[in-house]
Amino acid sequence: MLHATIIQKNVTALLSNKIKRFTLQLSLFQQKPGVAKPSASRFGEKIRSVLGPRLPVNALGEIVEQISANPISLKIVRQRTSKSGDFRAPHRDTPARITVNGNLNPYAFLITLVHELAHHHVNLDHTRTMLKFSFRRKTKPLPHGQEWKTKFQLLMSPYLNSGVFPNDILPVLMLYLQNPKASSSADHQLSRVLKKYDPADATMRLEELPFDAVFTLHGRRIFRKKEKLRTRFRCICMHTNRIYLVNAGAPVELIPEGAG
Ligand SMILES: [Zn+2]
Repeated sequence: MLHATIIQKNVTALLSNKIKRFTLQLSLFQQKPGVAKPSASRFGEKIRSVLGPRLPVNALGEIVEQISANPISLKIVRQRTSKSGDFRAPHRDTPARITVNGNLNPYAFLITLVHELAHHHVNLDHTRTMLKFSFRRKTKPLPHGQEWKTKFQLLMSPYLNSGVFPNDILPVLMLYLQNPKASSSADHQLSRVLKKYDPADATMRLEELPFDAVFTLHGRRIFRKKEKLRTRFRCICMHTNRIYLVNAGAPVELIPEGAG
């Protein structure tokens, strides 16, 4: 059984690498008093290294400026089916935070990031107004109300050119921005044209496969899925007939029956 233990360890290691890749966190500023803020250039470098591979090349310089001007904690997370990004206003000791799904294509990633930055800017404006006048002077803006729409349009304006977006996205995006909705995926035209740039990916989670399905894990061994034991599935290696316990969330590729 030593062999099985080693494989199990490898599986766990590979899974934790996968998770790490999706939870890159940019701690752009420290909220604690007395802790020095990173210098502006280091700050920009950090944004560049994390966002660089995820954005259209010609959008990077502008994004670095937009984020540096109003720093925020930014987290790139695993895919969520319910949303592609979110914004959380600062609360007590917790700074304002944006999360964006790491699996988005560069164009969808940019639109989502700027959508969330617009929430951040509306929130900053609101807080400043409250401090300047009185707490009763201004009611809280609606999440996707006029203030947000105007900010989103303004923040998107530097990117609305063919150097950033391909020619099939650009006109659809400009039309969408005339009256943007809460979610870009709610806009049929826009989500359809953005989808064209999604990488083809056959990866599924083990739990999504039917009982007895044949699959590969990281393109190596071939297994057959058996019953669930708490958080893992019993899987039989097709070459050795050995049994392994594989995490329900493991990224796998289904092999059509007969092909394995
Ligand atoms: Zn929103």
